Amino acid sequence: MALNAAVTDSKWSPNFSAGRPAGNPDKIVIHHWGADGQNHQTVVDFLCRTNGTSSAHYVASGGRVTQLVHDYDRAWHAGSLGNPHGIGIECRPEMSDADFATVAGLIRAIRAEWGDLPLHGHREYMNTACPGRWFDQLGRLDAAARSGAAPAPAPAAAPAAATGLAVDGWIGPDSVRAWQAAVGSPYRDGVISGQAAASKPHHARLASISYAGTGQSDLVKRVQGIVGVAQDGFLGPQTIAAIQRRLGVTADGWFGPDTATALQRRLNTGAF
Ligand SMILES: [Zn+2]
Repeated sequence: MALNAAVTDSKWSPNFSAGRPAGNPDKIVIHHWGADGQNHQTVVDFLCRTNGTSSAHYVASGGRVTQLVHDYDRAWHAGSLGNPHGIGIECRPEMSDADFATVAGLIRAIRAEWGDLPLHGHREYMNTACPGRWFDQLGRLDAAARSGAAPAPAPAAAPAAATGLAVDGWIGPDSVRAWQAAVGSPYRDGVISGQAAASKPHHARLASISYAGTGQSDLVKRVQGIVGVAQDGFLGPQTIAAIQRRLGVTADGWFGPDTATALQRRLNTGAF
């Protein structure tokens, strides 16, 4: 199998398990390589060491993507929960704009091969601070990978893409359109469709729900990928609780006014 379009060089690690006996990759696990100041090649060499106990599929920094383990084999990066189905990317912890753009391009190339894999942070699988600065930016990284555009500046540094939503706690079509934009959906119809209907009791503050559609909601599936729950397109309590954790409000699974206003404030930064 040819290497994907984002790979610039390879150095094959002896530290991996052959094959994917549990099935194809279904997630991308984002790591950082730890302390600031280490260089890309040092990390590659370390993960390729003889009799090592760790590895990753890729090491990525601005302008360079080194592949160490084939996607169809299992690298040793995220333990028994993350390794069987995970593709692991070791990212430069400094997370410069160039690092960010390179990792986004790599994710795009991996998805072109394996489908729409959601992004997760290493710390979701093990007790670790990894992936450091990257963890709070997984949504922005996901959006950048989908858009193919140059990444936006970090919201904390420059909240330039303000959408001007009224923070009124009512998620109507304008809010849904802003949400669709923030997660990189190709749709801007302001409607959450499909299986959301079945979870009606859980989101009293969501005004723009179509009960007509039978398909799954593109928006809900993208949001689920970002918050790290199963992408079933169903906006139920588990998904709402994960959204609430992302927004920093009480994770009670109920889409009430606190959640709606927190979402609107977040969307007003131009990101989710
Ligand atoms: Zn890690």
